Amino acid sequence: MLATVAQRMRDVIREPRLLGRRGGDEMVALIADLTRPEVAVEVAQALIRSIAEPVQIFGIEVSVTPSIGIAFFPQDGADLDTLLNAADAAMYQAKESGRRTYAFFTPAVARRVDLRLRLEQRLRKAVETHDFKLHFQPLVSLADGKMVGAEALIRWNDAELGEVLPTEFVPIAEESGLVVGLGEWVLKDACRARQVWRTMGLDVPPLSVNMSGVQLRQLGCVEALLDVLVQHDVQPAEIEVEVTETGLLDTSAVARENLIRLRNAGVKLALDDFGVGFSSLSHLRDLPIHRLKIDRSFTVECMRDARTLTIVKAVIEMARSLGISVTAEGIETQAQQTWMQHLGCDSAQGFLFARPLAPEEFLKLFLDKRGVGRERSLMH
Ligand code: C2E
Ligand code: MG
Ligand code: MG
Repeated sequence: MLATVAQRMRDVIREPRLLGRRGGDEMVALIADLTRPEVAVEVAQALIRSIAEPVQIFGIEVSVTPSIGIAFFPQDGADLDTLLNAADAAMYQAKESGRRTYAFFTPAVARRVDLRLRLEQRLRKAVETHDFKLHFQPLVSLADGKMVGAEALIRWNDAELGEVLPTEFVPIAEESGLVVGLGEWVLKDACRARQVWRTMGLDVPPLSVNMSGVQLRQLGCVEALLDVLVQHDVQPAEIEVEVTETGLLDTSAVARENLIRLRNAGVKLALDDFGVGFSSLSHLRDLPIHRLKIDRSFTVECMRDARTLTIVKAVIEMARSLGISVTAEGIETQAQQTWMQHLGCDSAQGFLFARPLAPEEFLKLFLDKRGVGRERSLMH
């Protein structure tokens, strides 16, 4: 594939222009005879057209989607390193705007790159110093309003950057590999919380922790997880692991194997954010899943779109007949609760019942609602 792409690029980038491979799948073209800036765009378009043509490899049709970043000498960089970094940043910009396209290095790109680098540096530090907190959000049974579980959600309040949202930093943690250390801390902290509750004699329902696909693909991640449980005297059944569909997209053999081993060890598995991205019903059949979490966007959408409703109905029915418990995520209104209850969801999570709470607040809520009777319900 590389050789084919290189040959095609060579056909576009002819002497006196230079073409080189920087490593992996990154190529660099140096166009020293640039008469007008528009020429760079023409070259980029020609490259995209020729690279994107499908290739036959061992009888299989393969196509690649190139992303091109363009930087100009000397305004974007007066030395080689700076110029290459600028082109690199512009390429990432192109990737983000949907691939198969090109982008220029601009001040806006420069700012974003700076911000991202800074975020990653701060995050690295936070992972080293465990500068995080866990909040807990109850999972509520739609049958009687009782708390049937709680999800541990990470919070990061950085001394320099302030409060950073998980939706901002978790993807960066995943790309940089920091998510492994982060995930380890989350699990340990969740186990420590359970230890504290146990010494208080409290029977708090199982805690769910989110696990990134990056973690799941690590060899030895199951042993590491089980080790932490043993160290904290926490039973596998007290912890549920949430994985997202996107994390499983390329369900590698290792990830699948690890899911099965987790399940065999007695750890329950939830498929998170169902309905976002490439939801696949085959995951329900093939993976040892205990719970399906229907994404908030699906809930909102199915209340106003008949086709989505049909899909959601079918998914819930199928899950239930496979013995998979169904949780509706992000329930904010009474109407959403009634709707999802009616569609057959077993439980729900959302601001209507409780926001993610700091440990002390969570404990207070648990103590308030403990026991039996309707007044103990988290439902309205
Ligand atoms: P998630 O696992 O799907 O978590 C649910 C998210 O929905 C949480 O956002 C929660 O605060 C939010 N939420 C709950 N109820 C409602 C509601 O009624 N309305 C709305 N609009 N939102 C609601 P949060 O805490 O910002 O986390 C976002 C995502 O970041 C999580 O989505 C999860 O994918 C990831 N994440 C959070 N903590 C961790 C972690 O410890 N490890 C990993 N790998 N990922 C995490
Ligand atoms: Mg989750
Ligand atoms: Mg979710």
